[in-house]
Amino acid sequence: MSLDHPPTLSLTEEARRQVEICNACRYCEGYCSVFPAITRERAFADGDITQLANLCHNCRGCYYACQYTEPHEFALNLPAVLAEVRVDGWERFAWPGALARVFQTSGVSLAAALVVGIAALFWAISALTPTDGEGFYAYLSHAAMVAIFAPAFLFPLAVIAVGLRRYWSEVGGTRITGGDLKAALGDAARLKNLSGGAAKGCNYEEGDRYTQARRHAHHAVMYGFLLCFASTSSGTLLHYGFGMEAPYGLFSLPKLFGIPGGILLTLGAVSLAWLKTKADRALGAPSVWGGEMAFVGLLGATGATGLMLYAATGTALVAPLLALHLGTVLAFFLTTPYSKMVHGFYRLAALIRDAQIRTR
Ligand code: SF4
Ligand code: SF4
Repeated sequence: MSLDHPPTLSLTEEARRQVEICNACRYCEGYCSVFPAITRERAFADGDITQLANLCHNCRGCYYACQYTEPHEFALNLPAVLAEVRVDGWERFAWPGALARVFQTSGVSLAAALVVGIAALFWAISALTPTDGEGFYAYLSHAAMVAIFAPAFLFPLAVIAVGLRRYWSEVGGTRITGGDLKAALGDAARLKNLSGGAAKGCNYEEGDRYTQARRHAHHAVMYGFLLCFASTSSGTLLHYGFGMEAPYGLFSLPKLFGIPGGILLTLGAVSLAWLKTKADRALGAPSVWGGEMAFVGLLGATGATGLMLYAATGTALVAPLLALHLGTVLAFFLTTPYSKMVHGFYRLAALIRDAQIRTR
């Protein structure tokens, strides 16, 4: 990171120094939610800095607009310092925090090890546990899938809930109203802050040129993920509510949600990975670049292996592809509280808190 702040300043103090300069300058007032939030305050407690960092989407527009970046003595790099504060907060709020640090710094190797190890585990289970079920249940019983995936889904959610509670306490959040939620969900659904101040997009992969590529890729990933989630949920409903067991036909709800969801998720993840290779790492948090790439890779692999599994229906490839897909999904779930995936939860919390402050 090119944050050559004096060693006497902590990360939070350096962020506060930069935010206070922005509050005096106010040139970027219309760029994103961060600047209106800055101008509402005169002094910035540590919790305010944490809240501002989680409102920032690292679009980098303010960096290219700023007249106080290096070599100016103010040495402003707001996108980078806020990215570092965000990562620091996610590690502090995570339980246990050491796992977040490991995954952030050696994400690619850890994600690869998880995928291979868990896929091997599933392969062994399917080989050692012959069942008389149909479809995927001929390889791994429904009971075994539930026994493995229910805790793997619920435990990360509980860990994230602990982290969000810590965040909420640090930023001084109050009781959430329907209005707060509505405003925050509306902004999140449109990814409003990725549109840039002039609705031209981010200055991410093309330096000082605006593009909408990052916003479109995020949209594809977000809605692809939600469609995949809807696919799994509808399958669960059909199984338990209507006694209709997998495999499901092409025009069933799980497939109608799952196929476009898998395509969007895969294409969006590939686009995000490509954009990350083009972007200047010094305007983000370089130490977690590998972990972020691992997360994007896991997202893309989840979509791609699901599609491959569907395409292989009725062939001998089903067993290894099922192991690979389930291993990828399990790795994704288990690393969720410690990977970049948590950014979605914290950004939503930051938008809710921002809605509260705007209407107080
Ligand atoms: S980033 Fe630079 S130009 Fe923008 S408000 Fe801050 S000091 Fe001013
Ligand atoms: S990088 Fe973008 S989102 Fe972050 S403070 Fe600057 S303009 Fe706002």
